[in-house]
Amino acid sequence: MTLAQTDRLAPTHFRHSAFWQNAHLYFDRVFQTMSLDQTWRSVLTTPKRVLSVSCPIRRDDGTIQVFTGYRAQHNGARGPFKGGIRYDVSVTQDECMALAMLQTWKNALVDLPFGGAKGGIVCDPKKLSMTEKERLTRRYTSEIMPIIGPNMDIPAPDLGTDSQIMAWVLDTYSMMVGHQELGVVTGKPVACGGSVGREDATGRGVMNILRKFLATQNKQLSDVRVAVQGFGNVGYHSARLLDDRGATVVAISERASAIYDESGIDVEAAGAFYKENGTLKGFAGADEIANDELLACDCDVLIPAAMENTIDESIAPHIKAHTVVEGANGPTTPKADEILRDNGVTVLPDILANAGGVTVSYFEWVQGLDNYFWNAKRVQDELQRVMESAFDQVNAKADESDCDYRTAAYTIAISRVAEACRLKGLFP
Ligand code: GLU
Repeated sequence: MTLAQTDRLAPTHFRHSAFWQNAHLYFDRVFQTMSLDQTWRSVLTTPKRVLSVSCPIRRDDGTIQVFTGYRAQHNGARGPFKGGIRYDVSVTQDECMALAMLQTWKNALVDLPFGGAKGGIVCDPKKLSMTEKERLTRRYTSEIMPIIGPNMDIPAPDLGTDSQIMAWVLDTYSMMVGHQELGVVTGKPVACGGSVGREDATGRGVMNILRKFLATQNKQLSDVRVAVQGFGNVGYHSARLLDDRGATVVAISERASAIYDESGIDVEAAGAFYKENGTLKGFAGADEIANDELLACDCDVLIPAAMENTIDESIAPHIKAHTVVEGANGPTTPKADEILRDNGVTVLPDILANAGGVTVSYFEWVQGLDNYFWNAKRVQDELQRVMESAFDQVNAKADESDCDYRTAAYTIAISRVAEACRLKGLFP
């Protein structure tokens, strides 16, 4: 199906961004090859609910500013909705809808009992003080209150949000229902009922998946040179855990700068520098390169861990890595995906590679509902088990169908969601 055809099938008010269309193209590419009843197509691609809210808050200077927030819930056939909340100037309603759809496939692929959701507030968190961020988070939480809850929709961190913000979500919701409700949000600080191991879970999952993939090629992490785009939660922990296990991290970038050292960057030192200065510019342990050089730099493994659509058709032909591990959600456009495939580059897709975060969120949700908390070893062992089992299933499907990993992953995920929809039937 072409892009134009996909757009015609989409309800008019959803005809917005290329990212939304890309998410549908990936879906359609796979859905067409599956022997599923075509009538389910619109059920599987249409979000169940999208809430848009306005959040007026008082700034520290006494003025009032209105921020816009969203929460999109895509498909809940397999369980309560689950997915992150992002704070970024680029947040839009259909970005949330597209990310919610990706989250549905991701949750199904790692076999969590959740549907997919995503939310966000259009803001620049770096320009808000802590008290402004707290007021904004509390107001947003109260606005989306009617559709979240431990059995309805469970938010978590995403781009621009962290455990402190999740603590305010927990507290606001708990104050409004009159009791502490640990299951309403994940990614909380451990001191407020969070799970150990949630902070680095996405990066750890990236490492688990890359290690497992390399083993199919009779290689180890110590055999590869890695470039990481993005130095937030996912990029930093992926780089750190890979470095710890012997991989050579040759390049790292963040929004404003990038560094390269063919003999390997000391990731801990770069992380400490970034934490202190908010940039990698001026980091003495590596050479500065232009930001857009990172994606095409000389390396074996490229980890896009920043925003969506960063690997497009203009950069894809220049990528030298033999493996791309998608730490971010939707970093590769469908056209770039085809170019990479034609060039023999293996792509370990987002819904597999970055599923570690939501997997440990699931563990956190279970621990909160049980009021029984696990130790770090249990969290890490169970995460590894889930990630490796998902990789084995995707690998087997790719072999059986002679297809790429993204197609295999989507086929498994869509089949699971479609089966749940079919068995439940339509109400009324
Ligand atoms: N925002 C993360 C993701 O994109 C985590 C979602 C969650 O933990 O619910 O997968």
